[in-house]
Amino acid sequence: MDSQEPITKPPITLACRRCGKITTWQGNEFRPFCSDRCKQIDLGAWANEDYAIPTTPSNEDEE
Ligand SMILES: [Zn+2]
Repeated sequence: MDSQEPITKPPITLACRRCGKITTWQGNEFRPFCSDRCKQIDLGAWANEDYAIPTTPSNEDEE
């Protein structure tokens, strides 16, 4: 059998879901984003998107 050598794993990286910047996974409290800013922007975008969805007025509470 091959002796197990201590392998230094490269840091896990990921692309920020907001801006695409490569950032590290470990020690990143804002993952999957690169920064708190991107995280907030993304959350804001979601909220905005949700808010922008035209809701059809319903009179269902009469039923
Ligand atoms: Zn980012």
